[in-house]
Amino acid sequence: MQTLPDRLAAVRERIARAAERVRRDPAQILLLAVTKVFPVSFIREAYDLGLRDFGENYVQEFETKAPQVSGLQGARFHLIGHLQSNKSSKAAELFAVIHTVDSIRLARRLNEAGRSLDLMLEVKLSPEQAKSGATPEELPELIAAVRACHNLRLLGLMTMPPWSDDPELSRPYFRDLRELAERHALPQLSMGMSGDFEVAIEEGSTCVRVGTALFGKRIKA
Ligand SMILES: *Cc1c(COP(=O)(O)O)cnc(C)c1O
Repeated sequence: MQTLPDRLAAVRERIARAAERVRRDPAQILLLAVTKVFPVSFIREAYDLGLRDFGENYVQEFETKAPQVSGLQGARFHLIGHLQSNKSSKAAELFAVIHTVDSIRLARRLNEAGRSLDLMLEVKLSPEQAKSGATPEELPELIAAVRACHNLRLLGLMTMPPWSDDPELSRPYFRDLRELAERHALPQLSMGMSGDFEVAIEEGSTCVRVGTALFGKRIKA
């Protein structure tokens, strides 16, 4: 059995090698540890190994974990799962960064929660991708609306390519996302998961969202 320190070292090594191939500084790539479904003990162990950024998918699940991790100084929790607008004020309370904003309505609800939030906009680049996400055509209006919200700081774009065991199939999605971000002068790209984060880094990712490669397979309840 591999331990978390081993897996973390292996992931960091993979990040470093991918960055090196495209002459990027690995320090500019955030490793977001995805702890959805896993118990709080996993967050604590990762924190003790120096990780500070954690990704969760479900507002309700994290609501039960949050009181147990409130003592972890400097830890930042990111919502990376789809957010319904009726959960927006709870999400604004629990998370520092929301990666999945995909509508003006949701952005305004988050702004009205009255807390400072960092945001990424989730983009759906093809019909094969999950249902959520704004289309590239919707982005200009969405970006303008978010920039007008004084509690929201827009960091960049996020996407999730259709699942595949060939990471090269993710590359065109990552490339499209980077081009969109450049077009809109957005500095950050949340892209790449356990199976394809090296390709994402080669295409400019600034935040890789890694669960399985750090914590092992999730046994979904
Ligand atoms: C679960 C999840 C991840 C992590 O996936 P792994 O393949 O376990 O690394 C990343 N991003 C999102 C949006 C997820 O839902």
